[in-house]
Amino acid sequence: MKQKIENCPWCGQAGVPHKDAAWDANGHGYRGCYFYYIECSNQDCRARAPHGESDDIYRSEEEAWERVITAWNTRPVPVIERSESTMKATPNFDNEFSFCSNFAACEVTYEGRTYKTSEHAFQAAKTLNPNEKEWVASASTPGEAKRRGRTVTLRPDWEAVKDQVMLDIVRIKFQDPDMKWRLIKSRDWILCENNYWHDNYWGNCTCERCQNIFGQNKLGKILMQVREEVINQVLEDKNNGNES
Ligand SMILES: [Zn+2]
Ligand SMILES: [Zn+2]
Repeated sequence: MKQKIENCPWCGQAGVPHKDAAWDANGHGYRGCYFYYIECSNQDCRARAPHGESDDIYRSEEEAWERVITAWNTRPVPVIERSESTMKATPNFDNEFSFCSNFAACEVTYEGRTYKTSEHAFQAAKTLNPNEKEWVASASTPGEAKRRGRTVTLRPDWEAVKDQVMLDIVRIKFQDPDMKWRLIKSRDWILCENNYWHDNYWGNCTCERCQNIFGQNKLGKILMQVREEVINQVLEDKNNGNES
């Protein structure tokens, strides 16, 4: 193989070349015929270059590989073969969706300071007092940062700016390659934190008392906005790369 196989532009993992025996409609192998294709090494990603054709149409195996590698490297973005795409809302931000939570372990650098989690960054942004900011930032867990954030001297314009602060911080969080990939992978899902702690602003509380309140799901909407942004960013980066 003369050409280098590029990493998957969706998730950043290596592309892996495959050579499979070609089969006829009855499931019998054609002697000496193979399909060549490249698949992302990340099993979750399912990105692959289109199947190559059987090698009886190529002059050599070398030629077959070069064509498949070219297909993988130059497609705008490799296809992600997806299961049915009916959008369902996430049950909550646990398990496979825990990356959506601001409690997820992911350092973010916001306004010149690095925070342990996006929750730390958001809670510290509530105050303009440097000592209180530092006290929130130094909390050992995101839960503790949240508790401390409830008692700080709020910046006077907090209510007016908090949505934008959340958006800015979430954007920074999802520049992390691992986090970015998890967000892209969630694109068959409506992101909403269904919770039991009466948060109907950032999510939607499902308790009996809140059942007639339609949660605004502000965090879920921000996450879905950032998801569109990072998908477009991957597409753009790849397309720009092809032009040069
Ligand atoms: Zn991939
Ligand atoms: Zn409730």
